[in-house]
Amino acid sequence: MSKKVRVRFAPSPTGPLNVGGLRTALYDYLFAKKHGGDFVLRIEDTDRAREVEGTEQYIIDALAWAGISPDEGPGIGGEYGPYKQSERLDIYSGYTQQLIELDKAYYAFDTSEELDAVRAKAEADGGSFKYNHAIRGEMNTSIGMSADELKTKLDGGASYTVRLKIEAGSTISFDDTVREHVTFSTDEMDDKIIMKGDGMPTYHLANIVDDYLMKITHVIRGEEWLSSTPHHVFMYDALGWEKPIFSHLPLILKPVGKGKLSKRDSAQFGFPVFPLDWANAQGEIEFDGFREAGYMPEAIINFLSFLGWNPGTEQEIFSLPELVEAFSLDKIGKSGARFDIDKAKWFNQQYLIASANEDLAKVAKGFFADASYDPTDAELVTICGLFKERITNLKDLPAAAQFLYEMPADIDEKTIRKRYKAENKAHVETMVDNILALDTFEASAIESTIKGYIGEHELNFGQILPVFRIALSGTLKGPDIFEIIAMLGKDVTKTRMAEGLVRFDAILAAKLAQQ
Ligand code: GLU
Repeated sequence: MSKKVRVRFAPSPTGPLNVGGLRTALYDYLFAKKHGGDFVLRIEDTDRAREVEGTEQYIIDALAWAGISPDEGPGIGGEYGPYKQSERLDIYSGYTQQLIELDKAYYAFDTSEELDAVRAKAEADGGSFKYNHAIRGEMNTSIGMSADELKTKLDGGASYTVRLKIEAGSTISFDDTVREHVTFSTDEMDDKIIMKGDGMPTYHLANIVDDYLMKITHVIRGEEWLSSTPHHVFMYDALGWEKPIFSHLPLILKPVGKGKLSKRDSAQFGFPVFPLDWANAQGEIEFDGFREAGYMPEAIINFLSFLGWNPGTEQEIFSLPELVEAFSLDKIGKSGARFDIDKAKWFNQQYLIASANEDLAKVAKGFFADASYDPTDAELVTICGLFKERITNLKDLPAAAQFLYEMPADIDEKTIRKRYKAENKAHVETMVDNILALDTFEASAIESTIKGYIGEHELNFGQILPVFRIALSGTLKGPDIFEIIAMLGKDVTKTRMAEGLVRFDAILAAKLAQQ
């Protein structure tokens, strides 16, 4: 029987999770679910100095918003917990000891002053300092020490780190589903620290120990971890453990296509690169989130799914269950994926159009409250229906629908100069009277009244409808004019049409005076 697929997402709480991290979590989730496996969340918090308060909760909230829920993790539980490395500290030292006994790791007693001195020397010689096979003989290590000597030193309370002992002259190879067969020369590898002076394991050790103990079968993570993988493979081999299958995901690139997407791009390009708003310790919003910017989680998930993967077909719209169905590691590309915000907007619009107006209205309510408009729930449903094809983001709805609440001060005078004719004024006034006389002030009745009148009097649609539009909303853009009239209601329609005609007459008079 083949092993149950288990994939983990293992973020460090050193800052809010960005879209790159969310994409990794998504691919982890998709692969696990595709194979009926488990998706595990593990918080890698052994680097206490770099920990940023609130980021663990942020990670949990971001995954929940995106709808990718872990089967196991902090606060969820599971057979292989605890799922926070800081709660597993007693586990790691045994493996450090094992690696030392196997002669695959050693104690390094160098003080920070000694390290600074060798680093300074290396830099003065024009190189850069690397703690590795070439230098370790000159350093203050346990290599060559007798057991007694070592014991005395340790009993004396000497501070130390534990480093991997990577010998030169060989290679470490592994298979990666994206990068294929990868080989590193051990000549190039450093003696990475696996246990720090305070007894805390580093990422490298805790990561492989937990992957092993949690029975992780697939490690799917960002490309930036590729260069650490030979060290991990070195430890797997030393401990005689079976390696997981590795997949290193391509970088997410800036919108301009060059360079890795960074959190600073958010400010520069004016779009979020985080799923949720992130507030700093003072409570100020430091980074904008897709959620608060009005994006729908389904759209962002769909957008992210295509940053590095594609289904190999023309289909672009995928729900999460459809992504699970379609996902496969062999369709992940090697080259970096450009973060194209226009594509995110396009996805968002597709999901807006496909959503029920009632559902959109619930979300839109908050945005209207922010804009100090207060439509009723029923009005909101109508507004969502009228505008959803004209916006890419619900957040833009209050602005797009603003004319429903107040007549814009600036109107499209140019069109009025071109289209408004003095001889049509009385006709427009009669049409207004006719629609105001309707019992049911609904779009269809309004439409047939106005169109009927235009037809009967052989008027020009292009000279009449723009007059209505601009008198009522200030612009030619916007949803169906008859829907707009119905939405505004009789009173507002009456006032705006009357005020509009006065204004248009003045525009006409000014135009004639110029001729
Ligand atoms: N803790 C690492 C991070 O912060 C995890 C890398 C991995 O998935 O192995 O991303």
